[in-house]
Amino acid sequence: MANLWTEPADVALRAGGVRVADLDTSSTPGFTGGKRAGKDLLAERATVLSVLQEKLFAHGRTGGHLNVLLILQGMDTAGKGGIVRHVIGSVDPQGVDHASFGVPTELEKQHDFLWRISKRLPAHGQIGVFDRSQYEDVLVVRVHNLVPQAEWEQRYDQINAFEKELAETGTVIVKVAMFVSLEEQKIRLRERLERPDKYWKFNPADITERAYWPQYQQAYQAVLDRTNTDYAPWYVLPSDHKWYARLAVTELLIGALAGLNLDWPPANFDIAEQLRRLDQS
Ligand code: ADP
Repeated sequence: MANLWTEPADVALRAGGVRVADLDTSSTPGFTGGKRAGKDLLAERATVLSVLQEKLFAHGRTGGHLNVLLILQGMDTAGKGGIVRHVIGSVDPQGVDHASFGVPTELEKQHDFLWRISKRLPAHGQIGVFDRSQYEDVLVVRVHNLVPQAEWEQRYDQINAFEKELAETGTVIVKVAMFVSLEEQKIRLRERLERPDKYWKFNPADITERAYWPQYQQAYQAVLDRTNTDYAPWYVLPSDHKWYARLAVTELLIGALAGLNLDWPPANFDIAEQLRRLDQS
């Protein structure tokens, strides 16, 4: 297939300087094709992703210490679940560790906000996927003043320090902020109210949160301005087009895995000898 990317997804989507309030959520940065071409390409690239993921898994199984952590953030209906199903779903499930973070439990509330996060970090050789993350503690928490400002203000630096250490110990961090427009969110919420197979996804609180859209945009802007680092970069993903969002995250993961330059682990046995034994068995 002709290359429909004018620049790699990790360049087209890198957060530096993006204004959340001005983002065109229906755009497809870096990609010149439409839905059909995007879906075809996704099927093709899923195979590439799958092979790279297996190499990472093999690396972990043979003593390697590297892993990948995909952090997904976005307002309700932004499509985080779709990324998990359609992108992560295309690789071997035994190499994936999925964690979602909702309202903290009583136990979690008795600990530092990073406590529950630390417990769900991926093991060596795994792709960890966070559906929501430590960033909720500077998003919903900031918008609703769930803790005093003096406390959440410190969290940006705490998150940076936490992620720096993770990166230094072998985790490749890919952070994706998914954005849909207020109008697109309305369409998606309406669908949840009109389709019996989607009622289960509906939460009345999602409508309440729509009134805080500008505050959320500000909170996302602060996240992008203050935690977009070389060791844990943010990618800003316009997500009105689900096919584009899925294709782009596939490319980001391919880039992260390819950057590890992993090869298949060499045999730790004498191949000729084992073939001989097999023949004789
Ligand atoms: P989803 O709505 O994504 O399907 P859940 O219903 O399990 O998932 O919970 C998500 C909700 O939990 C969101 O409204 C989110 O803002 C909230 N949440 C996540 N982390 C925190 C946190 N640290 N403090 C308060 N609320 C949080």
